[in-house]
Amino acid sequence: MKPPKSGEIRKPTKTLSGVAPVAVMLKPRKCKHGTCLYCPTLDVPQSYTPKSPAVMRALMLDYDPFKQVKARLKALKVMNHPTDKIELIIMGGTFLDYPTKYQYNFIKECYDALNDRKCKTLEQAKKINEKAKHRCVALCIETRPDVCSKEHIKRMLKFGCTRVELGVQAIDDMIYKKIKRGHTVKEVINATKRLREAGFKIGYHIMPGLPGSNRKKDIAMFKKIFSDENFKPDQLKIYPCQVIKGSALEKLHYKGKYSPYTEQEIKNLIIKFLKLTPRYCRIMRIMREIPPDYLVAGTTRIDLRKEIEEELRKKQNKIKEIRFREIGLRSRYQKQIDNRTRLKITRYKAVGEEYFLEIVNSQDVLFALCRLRINKKNKNKAIIRELHVYGQAINIGKRGKIQHKGFGKQLIEKAEEITKNKGIKKLKIISGVGVREYYRKLGYKLDEERVYMVKEF
Ligand code: SF4
Repeated sequence: MKPPKSGEIRKPTKTLSGVAPVAVMLKPRKCKHGTCLYCPTLDVPQSYTPKSPAVMRALMLDYDPFKQVKARLKALKVMNHPTDKIELIIMGGTFLDYPTKYQYNFIKECYDALNDRKCKTLEQAKKINEKAKHRCVALCIETRPDVCSKEHIKRMLKFGCTRVELGVQAIDDMIYKKIKRGHTVKEVINATKRLREAGFKIGYHIMPGLPGSNRKKDIAMFKKIFSDENFKPDQLKIYPCQVIKGSALEKLHYKGKYSPYTEQEIKNLIIKFLKLTPRYCRIMRIMREIPPDYLVAGTTRIDLRKEIEEELRKKQNKIKEIRFREIGLRSRYQKQIDNRTRLKITRYKAVGEEYFLEIVNSQDVLFALCRLRINKKNKNKAIIRELHVYGQAINIGKRGKIQHKGFGKQLIEKAEEITKNKGIKKLKIISGVGVREYYRKLGYKLDEERVYMVKEF
């Protein structure tokens, strides 16, 4: 790869949503419950293939978290991306099922790499990261719905985690049985409730086209996800089921008992999904990248989303999904962006009250958002689950076109006003360790358990 010219950012979409993502892979380990029908077991982290770029990078570094973070930082810098605001993403298996000591050490080493120094304890490493050059502004952990107990939640809060991705795949017990998922819909509901009440941002992974499903069922499932208040995730990753070498599904496929959706079927389904997605949800990714050598049946078109969105834009479809509307990506397609903004509030029920606050313009382009939740009864009565200013990431302390212009403050003030008007005396924020300083400037303090930022009125 040629080095970028001065000022040029290589692969700009990486940081166009406001932060620089750093994915760190766990060492390979089999899942406790067994193996899901579609999941490959190939002597690398469960569900990955040896030729996945993330696996190859991790393998070269012996799955060492410190070295992986360092290597990713270096790669981002070479591509000219700002690296002040980092989102750490832990991937490669059910992290919370690994030995607890491994988990604590893994997270500590990630912070150590961002801090460029080794600490004795996780608490120390987190404290240093509050003012470090590379601050962890968000931390994402993937887990299964049945590995998300109160205990797990407490631990994730200790790690400084702010976002949890749940492997939901379908919300149908018959399908779960068929694919040997090892949990039920009840566990999805319980995990979602616990996470939401603790203030996490929740992402679901869903998998249309599973054995036992069909287009009609998949659409019904998608509608239910957003109409039933037990679900309503903030984010989605949509990975249509594919047949991968090394999975049990491969055998079924060769026996003629299973075929994945065709490219056209996936395309039609995704268009439908995008049209059904409410304005508070961001579809993070569509299609999983499977190296062609390992794809037995399914589509290789991982760029389908781009093509679909271009079509939707041409037809001037009013898509409300976040990524479609966010300023950083939108400004690549739309020349004239109206900079006059207003605050829009959407209220919805999700076993409690959710207030989705947005800074938008007349064209419904999204500049910033805030998720405020009022729990029915819980010690986290009013809690901010997310504050995000979109647009190209810029380094801390610098002013940008979108970031660092006061949108965050405006949204927090509105959330405080709503909280006070409800007669609630305290507002909590789940905060990446690296954002604590920002909230301190707005009058928030770290609570006694050293988890949430809190303001009392
Ligand atoms: S839980 Fe995830 S990683 Fe484990 S077997 Fe199932 S799909 Fe694979």
